[in-house]
Amino acid sequence: MTKFTPFWWDGQPQFENTDEPPLSADIVIVGAGYTGLSAALTLSKSGKNVIVLDSEMIGFGASTRNGGMLGSGHKVSTDQAKKKYGEMIAEEIHKEANASLAFTSNLIIENKLDCEFQVCGRLRASWLPQDQVNMSDNLKKLKAIEHFNSNMISPDMMSNSIKTDLYFGGQFYQDHGSVHPRKFHYGLLKLALKAGVKVFGNRPVIKVTQLSKLKQSGFDVVTSNSTIQCKQVLMATNGYTRPNLSKYLSRRVLPVPSFVITTVDIGKDKVKSLLPGGHCIVETRKRYCYYRPTPCGKRIMLGTRAAMHSISAEEALPTLRKMLIEIFPSLADVEISHCWTGFTGFSFSQLPNLSNNKGIYSALGYCGNGVAMAPYLGHMAALKMLNPDQKVTIFEQTPLQTRPYYFGKPWFLPIASAYFRGFDILDYYRRKKSIKKV
Ligand SMILES: Cc1cc2nc3c(=O)[nH]c(=O)nc-3n(C[C@H](O)[C@H](O)[C@H](O)COP(=O)(O)OP(=O)(O)OC[C@H]3O[C@@H](n4cnc5c(N)ncnc54)[C@H](O)[C@@H]3O)c2cc1C
Repeated sequence: MTKFTPFWWDGQPQFENTDEPPLSADIVIVGAGYTGLSAALTLSKSGKNVIVLDSEMIGFGASTRNGGMLGSGHKVSTDQAKKKYGEMIAEEIHKEANASLAFTSNLIIENKLDCEFQVCGRLRASWLPQDQVNMSDNLKKLKAIEHFNSNMISPDMMSNSIKTDLYFGGQFYQDHGSVHPRKFHYGLLKLALKAGVKVFGNRPVIKVTQLSKLKQSGFDVVTSNSTIQCKQVLMATNGYTRPNLSKYLSRRVLPVPSFVITTVDIGKDKVKSLLPGGHCIVETRKRYCYYRPTPCGKRIMLGTRAAMHSISAEEALPTLRKMLIEIFPSLADVEISHCWTGFTGFSFSQLPNLSNNKGIYSALGYCGNGVAMAPYLGHMAALKMLNPDQKVTIFEQTPLQTRPYYFGKPWFLPIASAYFRGFDILDYYRRKKSIKKV
């Protein structure tokens, strides 16, 4: 029987705090995922009195639902970034992607966080021959910016990493790794609590109001049953930002669902025979499929965009299963133990952002790449709140945008689903054509 909750939640401890939150603090952070906890840790270590509030049980959001793939990289290529922001910003965007991976890897290592961290490498597999050409071209540009531990893998070498003949080669990222996301979140939570942060679940923030128009006057953070007065506020709600919390942010961050399955235990030998490299794999196809061995090495976990709009995990299961079997036909009779979903937060620029709107800070917009970036940007948000006049990250220069007729309810995502289904068909057609040519 398939369970429709994250595999990562099985047998893991659940933090609870039954105390009443204090009525005041220096800083209130809304959202207790990687961003909120990492920001809270840095602020608390700098002597600030910090409260973190989450509307659900602690660890409800994407931070415990993700694929656990720890890496750098953005949805936009160097050329796209150069065209939009200019050469200098494009270079910094790439450097900070690398910096985020180094930051989060160090955070885990230095604090000995028990989260099954492995530097297993990541392979980005080419769905079309042209993808291989484009990746190789982009890689040369990235290497010209700064040292980048990545190389192209030719089609004949792919079998060292994966036993399928679906792909036309790939790009390998040596420094990328994997974690058990829920354990990583719990480790970060324990660090924050130890540093003095007060964390409360089941406390939805309903409203944040400025006490007076005067700069630095402070805020009232209103929850369903109390009001906390504070000097600064950080919104760390990413894909779970809803219009009732912030009309401004919900018009600028799209909640795009991602769906994940894990197989039942198929044994280490079987997993090794399919994924001999033990890497995390992501594809270049538009549907964006990603998979990896689970930390025990006995199951395969696969995620994909079963739909752009919110459907239930039950509805998504057949699509995910079909994708798994397409890649590994020998898993056709294998049962799926878990299937779940969660929301990623997409900015319209497809880049993360740190900003301050009317005195309220926000760090979000990771576009599905937040395991390394969210703890990093949370830390950067904390540095910004400590030194508001200093520029701390290039993601202050990737402004949040909105679109006409978008008021925070993504009415167009079902249309986008149909559009991307069209793209999928086109991807298959292009592929068939290229196979004929080869
Ligand atoms: C299925 C899935 C797979 C993914 N796989 C990967 C991956 O393999 N690698 C990778 O790099 N990234 C991945 N991601 C993305 C990554 O998980 C996120 O970018 C990251 O966890 C974001 O962290 P966060 O702290 O900003 O947000 P979240 O962890 O989503 O936390 C936001 C929190 O805000 C709370 N909240 C919302 N509104 C309120 C309110 N009004 N009051 C109080 N609290 C509120 C929510 O309850 C939630 O707990 C994946 C995401 C999903 C959903």
